[in-house]
Amino acid sequence: MNTQVGKLFVISGSSGVGKGTLLKELLLQHPDLNLSTSATTRHPRPGEIDGVNYFFVKKEDFLNSVKNEEFLEWTEFNGNYYGTKEAYVKKTLSKGENLILEIETKGALQIKSKLPDAILIFILPPSLEELEHRLRGRNTEDEESIQNRLNEAKREIECSKNYDYRVVNDDLKKALKELEEIINKNLNK
Ligand code: ADP
Ligand code: 5GP
Repeated sequence: MNTQVGKLFVISGSSGVGKGTLLKELLLQHPDLNLSTSATTRHPRPGEIDGVNYFFVKKEDFLNSVKNEEFLEWTEFNGNYYGTKEAYVKKTLSKGENLILEIETKGALQIKSKLPDAILIFILPPSLEELEHRLRGRNTEDEESIQNRLNEAKREIECSKNYDYRVVNDDLKKALKELEEIINKNLNK
């Protein structure tokens, strides 16, 4: 029987900073890492697949799961709910498998208080101007959502002081290397 508990990594960073881009590369090189799929009430963006990018659920169903205490953490972000199911996290870790949660800061701090061994990594933009440029360049948000996400970004960057590690995503390759070093160091502990 496998008695080793898997490692839990929590990755946060302002919307548009490049988390998705970095994680895609990281997971290609690390088949020993699993990425958790969150539930959300947000509408899918073009190309997003239910059960892959998120479990896209109705608000009523999300709130029922909250009532039934199914979430390890959940929050409201930019007018929508997002959450991580507790059963999936506990099951994965107890099998000795490593898990990454890509979630925002309020959820990350809920995780740290419940599972203090979780490793929190925050991805920073080189500047707020570059963050806005990337968010607009991605072409997925309307103006209101862009403004909300930029306001959230300032709050989240302040909150990142509570994280174990901070990585600046300026040059993609350099940021990926730094992220990998943090992951490898903690996997080998
Ligand atoms: P997030 O998942 O954090 O919201 P994305 O991964 O969707 O962000 O990245 C937002 C945009 O920024 C994408 O168009 C992506 O190609 C671009 N991007 C990501 N990392 C970099 C980087 N280091 N330099 C320049 N552009 C980047
Ligand atoms: P997006 O709408 O861009 O996919 O995600 C918006 C924000 O919600 C991002 O910061 C993302 O990391 C965060 N997020 C995604 N899933 C979860 C989750 O399950 N819990 C929490 N707390 N945040 C999440």
